[in-house]
Amino acid sequence: MFAVISDIHSNLAALRAVLDDIERRQIKEIFCLGDIVGYGPEPCQCLDLIIDRQIAGIMGNHDHAVFYEPTNFNTGAERASYWTRRALEKEPDSEKRSRRWSFLGRLPVSIRMAKIMMVHGSPRRPVNEYIFPDDIYTNSAKLLTIFEKVDHLCLVGHTHVPGVFLDDPDFYGVDELDYVYPVVEKEKAIINVGSVGQPRDQDVRASYVIVGEDKIEFVRVEYDIELTVAQILANPQLDNFEGERLRDGR
Ligand code: ZN
Repeated sequence: MFAVISDIHSNLAALRAVLDDIERRQIKEIFCLGDIVGYGPEPCQCLDLIIDRQIAGIMGNHDHAVFYEPTNFNTGAERASYWTRRALEKEPDSEKRSRRWSFLGRLPVSIRMAKIMMVHGSPRRPVNEYIFPDDIYTNSAKLLTIFEKVDHLCLVGHTHVPGVFLDDPDFYGVDELDYVYPVVEKEKAIINVGSVGQPRDQDVRASYVIVGEDKIEFVRVEYDIELTVAQILANPQLDNFEGERLRDGR
């Protein structure tokens, strides 16, 4: 059994709440599908926590943007990305500074565990491609091509909308699933684990999943949203919207 988190986006309060919840369940192994940084106010602290807890990470587009450069980002995301880079560079302790940079620079674009594949975006374009619930209606050919790359299960993040894609193609949100996807042998599924620090499915709580032998459980955890909102509003380099949206989960 292991836990999979994603899209923390420098939201330390949310990350702490999720890690506490995982610890309470005595789950030792944790994977992170990327976007540790971006949008939020505490990139250094979030990176330190991920590194200290020895959480295996994958490269997300926001991690990539801070290390290299933002591409196809909206203005708010781009500003946050440049501010994040400055925050990482400003660290006076050179050991801490290089530990964070080398962690970011060494993130792999995918991890494979037995029959389970893990990426940030999609198995076709691991760092940047979005798989949206609407794609099942508007772009089913895209989903079918993506599913050709999946043997059995693929865990993704990136859209911040948790749920399960099947290769019909179809999408099931967490409510429809009653928060559990029973793993079916030979059935292909792409499971979006949702976002820890920037949920966008109108549920404001932090999202992650627990992967067991025969099921994947979606978990939501309450955290101090107003703490993170206040930090974002107090930071002139971050757009207020990145904080306000946390109150609605959008
Ligand atoms: Zn993200």
